[in-house]
Amino acid sequence: MKIKSVRGTHDLLPESIGLWQQIESTARGVFRLYGYEELRTPIFEKTELFARSIGAESDIVQKEMYTFNDSKGNPISLRPEGTAPVVRAYLEHGLHHDKSVQKLYYIGPMFRHERPQKGRYRQFHQVGVEVLGSDHPALEAEVIEMLVRFLRDLGASEIQLLVNSVGCPNCRPGYVKILKEELDKLQDGLCAECQRRSTTNPLRVLDCKVPACQPLIDGLPSILDHLCEECRQHFEQFQAYLELQNIPFEVVSRLVRGLDYYVGTTFEMISSKLGPTQNAVVGGGRYDGLPELLGGPPTPGFGFALGIERLVVLLEENETGLRPGPDIFLAYLDESVLQETLGLARELRDQGISAYVDFEGRSLKAQMRLANKLHSLFTCIIGDDEVKSGQFPIKRMEDGHQITQAREAIASYVKEDGVITS
Ligand code: AMP
Repeated sequence: MKIKSVRGTHDLLPESIGLWQQIESTARGVFRLYGYEELRTPIFEKTELFARSIGAESDIVQKEMYTFNDSKGNPISLRPEGTAPVVRAYLEHGLHHDKSVQKLYYIGPMFRHERPQKGRYRQFHQVGVEVLGSDHPALEAEVIEMLVRFLRDLGASEIQLLVNSVGCPNCRPGYVKILKEELDKLQDGLCAECQRRSTTNPLRVLDCKVPACQPLIDGLPSILDHLCEECRQHFEQFQAYLELQNIPFEVVSRLVRGLDYYVGTTFEMISSKLGPTQNAVVGGGRYDGLPELLGGPPTPGFGFALGIERLVVLLEENETGLRPGPDIFLAYLDESVLQETLGLARELRDQGISAYVDFEGRSLKAQMRLANKLHSLFTCIIGDDEVKSGQFPIKRMEDGHQITQAREAIASYVKEDGVITS
């Protein structure tokens, strides 16, 4: 029997990799404009890192982590998210001594043992950004502006920004107490999960998507009516900075993060194009308590994670103009001109042109068929006469237009007349 990939994981085949590469290079380009640098952390970490940061009682740590013991019996987990590893690396390498504010980003796979469904996988990929060392609301708005620019440059549309504040250790406990009292009164009408969360983590009830719970949850008190003066001012300033950047948003008081280390601003980006449930493309917020929780000095932090698979779904509908094929296919008459053909291929590649040479001994006709199949932009036919004269027939595959070019002029002709992908 053939061995297949593990459920919830996917191969990215060459035919669809173009979009992924475009997303990654756009991220790198846009993040650079704002002074962000890439950080790559290992894909596995000590389990304790996630247990301590995400919380031993959280769904992720309880049910969704791929955990195993190494040969010495130490528990190791595949990373389910990127923030804790980034903060761990930040502290481990003393990056806080290096610069007072660190602007970091990562791109890579994450692993969660969830029930696979559309938009939810066991290995998925995130582009994430973390800023450590600043608690300014203008910086939060700048991170969102950067994200909006990134999505706009990629041509993603119909994405909504939702924002909220989850308060701080001064004001949140008071709100959670009131919330709990209200939830106690509603118990019978709530789903089993909400009933359980009412005692373990009442804030997470606000996340529930079960239709029957919605009217009850909508009637619950809003955290925004219970923020302390500091949190209220911070949230107002954040919104003012977003307005200054002309970024539309909606305040949704139900948008919470169930973990204690989250404070103040939280946000999400959703798209109705993704359907009613797994519709979040980006989740982010402020996590000032996390570095301290991981043994570091008190350090403010703010960031987001964007799911690449979900972004790909949004972009697949657009015509991206990506062309995966080679720029030019070098079709040669027989082996006697192969050396010359390889020399020409090298010259073209030196000039940034992708040149394809076939080694299967196909006839000229079969080589032309292959060039078509590969979506090559041009073909060049190489025989004895061409090698002697130094003049080569170049055919534009799209419309069959053919001209003869001198060897040295082929590269510039292809560059000018075709869309070069590099
Ligand atoms: P989170 O780390 O849970 O806040 O998720 C941040 C983003 O990652 C979400 O908005 C999704 O776009 C994406 N994401 C999270 N979990 C998965 C998953 N299991 N499969 C695919 N994408 C995911």
